[in-house]
Amino acid sequence: MNPPFIYLDNNATTPVDPRVLEAMLPYFTDIPGNAASRNHPYGWKAKEAVDTARQQIADLLSVEEKELVFTSGATEAINLALKGIYENYSRKGKHIITLQTEHKAVLDTCKRLEKIGAEVTYLPVKEDGLLDIELLKANIRPDTILVSVLWANNETGIIQPMKDIGQICQEAGVFLMSDATQAVGKIPVSPKDVGVHLMAFSAHKMYGPKGMGALYVSQRQPKIKIPAQIDGGGHENGMRSGTLNVPSIVGFGKAAVIAKAEMQKDAERLQKLRDQFESKILNGLEEVKINGEQSTRLPHVSNLSFRFIKGETLMARFSEKLGVSSGSACTSATLEPSHVLQAMGLNDYWAHGALRFSLGRFTKVEEIEQASKIVINGVKHLRELSPIWELFKDGVEVDDL
Ligand code: PLP
Repeated sequence: MNPPFIYLDNNATTPVDPRVLEAMLPYFTDIPGNAASRNHPYGWKAKEAVDTARQQIADLLSVEEKELVFTSGATEAINLALKGIYENYSRKGKHIITLQTEHKAVLDTCKRLEKIGAEVTYLPVKEDGLLDIELLKANIRPDTILVSVLWANNETGIIQPMKDIGQICQEAGVFLMSDATQAVGKIPVSPKDVGVHLMAFSAHKMYGPKGMGALYVSQRQPKIKIPAQIDGGGHENGMRSGTLNVPSIVGFGKAAVIAKAEMQKDAERLQKLRDQFESKILNGLEEVKINGEQSTRLPHVSNLSFRFIKGETLMARFSEKLGVSSGSACTSATLEPSHVLQAMGLNDYWAHGALRFSLGRFTKVEEIEQASKIVINGVKHLRELSPIWELFKDGVEVDDL
């Protein structure tokens, strides 16, 4: 993109860090080996590089290398975890608990499992976006085998109380899986410390390459065995067959090393920028809501609702200059408001007016200044065209839709 373009959609994907790219390049060209080739130096070097990367990622998460399974991304890791647990443990029980605010990768996998006999409870969240711990406790049944909770929400950045959730699951003797795709590399994440047994995450959300992810599968007691969803040569301890993507695994490892070293500094800087952005918007506009403001949020995420505006319309106005995301699932002809914001109790009016701004390692101060101006001007302009806004300003009671 040409320079004036401002990218605030880092929760969708992060640019590859140049240091990551540099680490990856030799494995496309100079060292093109297959990590499973045991008979020549190309193979040995590829295997060594994969081992090193696995160690680097394990270090970031304080887990053991043998507990990581490389996949093509978080979606595959989530499928592997949920389908695998169901396949192996459904003799014990067929009940799974998850949240209404999960990513589609979890929700749609659960829907698939329902078709083959699973019973899934989709728990609501409180207005602050957090899971009610007592509600979780009350919903665990003797036949519950798994609880699946999104560590940090992709739309709002809201961080769930994983330690409390882990304790409840431990007391009840059920597995806890977490989709930590937006949390890993951004905030300290250690599945062992909070009692998470399975955890999915992705390289392209932490300045690594796309098409690369991993599943953490605890090998402490209880030792978890999950069957592969992709069969073949028995790679990754038989849990995920297919030739390993060596350059991307190397990039994933490098991204983990950088995250470990720079996470705190990045988070502090981005939180400051995010807070500046939010206060500029709140000072420049009326009728704006910060979604999830009361909860602990990822430091780089801001989900804002602009009353009397459609997020998509606003976004379309500035999409050439500023890249953000709307909370809506724009995949269907009818634009549904975000299921996450609806689950938090926002009415359609506020939910339709939501946009997600996600900052990243390469976001600059002047971009935040510029982005806030673009947003404020865009909202003001659209409201000037809105008859409802005019009525509202004239003091007419405008019912929310
Ligand atoms: N889970 C969450 C919370 C996400 O934000 C995403 C990506 O948007 C995914 C899962 C899917 O990740 P991947 O693109 O690596 O399959």
